[in-house]
Amino acid sequence: MSASPASHPPSTAFEQLAQQLCRAAADLARRGWTPATSSNFSARLDAGCIAITVSGRDKGRLTPADIMLMDDQARALDAQCPSAEARLHAQIYRMLPQTGAVLHTHSQTQTVASLHFAAAGVVRLHGYELVKAIEGLRSHEQDLSLPVFPNSQDMAEIERHVDVWRAQGQPLHAYLIAGHGLYAWGRDITAALRHLEAIDFMLACELELRKLPT
Ligand SMILES: [Zn+2]
Repeated sequence: MSASPASHPPSTAFEQLAQQLCRAAADLARRGWTPATSSNFSARLDAGCIAITVSGRDKGRLTPADIMLMDDQARALDAQCPSAEARLHAQIYRMLPQTGAVLHTHSQTQTVASLHFAAAGVVRLHGYELVKAIEGLRSHEQDLSLPVFPNSQDMAEIERHVDVWRAQGQPLHAYLIAGHGLYAWGRDITAALRHLEAIDFMLACELELRKLPT
């Protein structure tokens, strides 16, 4: 796919995907999960072409003009500039070819949980019915291990942590970055939203449980 929204008439497929991304972003912004223009969202248009939010925009007020195209190495396919974190999106699409959408948010729950579990390097979600919202998990008896990678302004460093986790043969359904937020994905935007919402809910439960007397 060489067409771009800047240099060619917008394709219907791109327009539809861009509209869906804008709606998802507005929904997440309403929940307060995208403070201060943070967060970024993407969806795969075809094998080598990914629609992704331009950095620095209010995620509650996006229009398709705020969505750009990049390839799976995070290189711009139009005149706009992807955010540094676009590299993390691109890595997920390369690593997990069935992925159709990647959503990254900075909710308070995600940020607090990422700091609380940073030293452990992992959150083990155990006994939750809602784990079944995650594709591939079918029973509350299945655990979901969510890695917490150290934050860095060097995306290559975060990419290396992801690679190491995968090289250890551990399933990767989503990940937290310490003091930062959550990356979740799915085969389309709807599935990615479901994963993001389920994981945020289970993280909130983990934090609530720690307030109770033991
Ligand atoms: Zn971020």
